[in-house]
Amino acid sequence: MVHKRVFVGRNVVLSDGQPQPATVITDVSTGKIIDILHGISPRSSFADVADEDWIDSGDKYILPGIVDAHVHLNEPGRTDWEGFWTGTRAAASGGVTTVVDMPLNSIPPTTTVSHLEEKRKAARGQCWTDVAFWGGVIPGNQSHLKPLVEAGVKGFKCFLIESGVDFPCVDESDLRAAMAELQVSSALSTASDSLCSHTSQDTPTVLCFHAELQRSSSAPTAEPSDPTLYSTFLASRPQQLEVDAIELITRLHREFPSLRLHIVHLSAAAALPLVRAAKASGLPLTVETCFHYLTLSAQHIPRGRPEFKCCPPIRDDANREALWAALLDGTIDCVVSDHSPCVVALKKLDEGDIMSAWGGISTLGLGLNLLWTEARKRNVGIGTVVDWLCVQTAKHAGSRTARASSGLASTRTSSSGIPTRRPRGRVEQTFLRGRLVYAGLERGFNGLEPVGGLL
Ligand SMILES: [Zn+2]
Repeated sequence: MVHKRVFVGRNVVLSDGQPQPATVITDVSTGKIIDILHGISPRSSFADVADEDWIDSGDKYILPGIVDAHVHLNEPGRTDWEGFWTGTRAAASGGVTTVVDMPLNSIPPTTTVSHLEEKRKAARGQCWTDVAFWGGVIPGNQSHLKPLVEAGVKGFKCFLIESGVDFPCVDESDLRAAMAELQVSSALSTASDSLCSHTSQDTPTVLCFHAELQRSSSAPTAEPSDPTLYSTFLASRPQQLEVDAIELITRLHREFPSLRLHIVHLSAAAALPLVRAAKASGLPLTVETCFHYLTLSAQHIPRGRPEFKCCPPIRDDANREALWAALLDGTIDCVVSDHSPCVVALKKLDEGDIMSAWGGISTLGLGLNLLWTEARKRNVGIGTVVDWLCVQTAKHAGSRTARASSGLASTRTSSSGIPTRRPRGRVEQTFLRGRLVYAGLERGFNGLEPVGGLL
């Protein structure tokens, strides 16, 4: 039986990116949007819809649910760093309706099908958003890659530099073996798609790179410096590490041109020419950057504040401007959080020791506010923000058509006169497949259920 829930508003962001008056009709029993009507339908034309199923957002935005394609939920094994329950609640509170979980930091890492099943078992019943999974490429696990694709991972992540946890990095020969295996998977799934056969792998896979590479020639000169200064950390991870990594990635890409490759958390603007050249030559390369690289600058990070540590690092203001330009011209495809918390002791907040602290910034659920605040300053419209956060990330994480329509978030802009560093806007409600999963600052999650599914 159809259980309709109807959303109306004067600023509904639809597929053309323009906020407009619209009526969105969902069927809560199937979780699908069943119709979208231009204009605001009168309440009287939906006499069969109960009052609690008539959601009128007035002038506030109704947006597609955000797909955060780079999140570390460290359960099982490091649930005290972040688990499915807490992480997906943070996500839902910021209008995120799908997170894609990275293969490392949980124990075990997602490098085999049995490890993936452990993840799924841990996640079941705990998710306030939908959750999908990336698999991991580590030395010697290439025979597990195709089974992982068949088991439903959206793609793979690998490291070219020490990851900091039990997830070893790969070298060029490991990569060739993995890329040969994955290129076959991509070709197979493309072929089966064209035959319209039913298959669990409904999209070609993708290999994602943590793109920092420590060559002996690019090693920073090791002068003992003050570990509480952000500049010390920044000097230890120069842009050249990203440039060298992306040079290797694009060179290998030419050997495996039918496999999509993806650069996670690009920070170095110096690597943008390599990305532009690869894209211009037709290689299927995509790139993400993160909220922190677009909103923070190294010179403003105070001494002794390891909460700003992440790898690669936040760089200077000119670099940040170059990332914005690359995002606007399409060189960078999408924006994600790279949410990667840890326990307080490992963040070394008391000592202020940036060099030995865990590298990871926690912004899951804050991204829409942060990016919207910056976007407003740059005259970038909400439709463009939606494209970066919902449409492009959904495509990247393996949906042929954006899953973004599965969620609806209603947000509103703040009144004027607030300090510039205060984020604009607030998510008031988040709906997942037509069902309320976050009810705003006061009610929060009270009386609601974790109805997120595993994708
Ligand atoms: Zn990450």
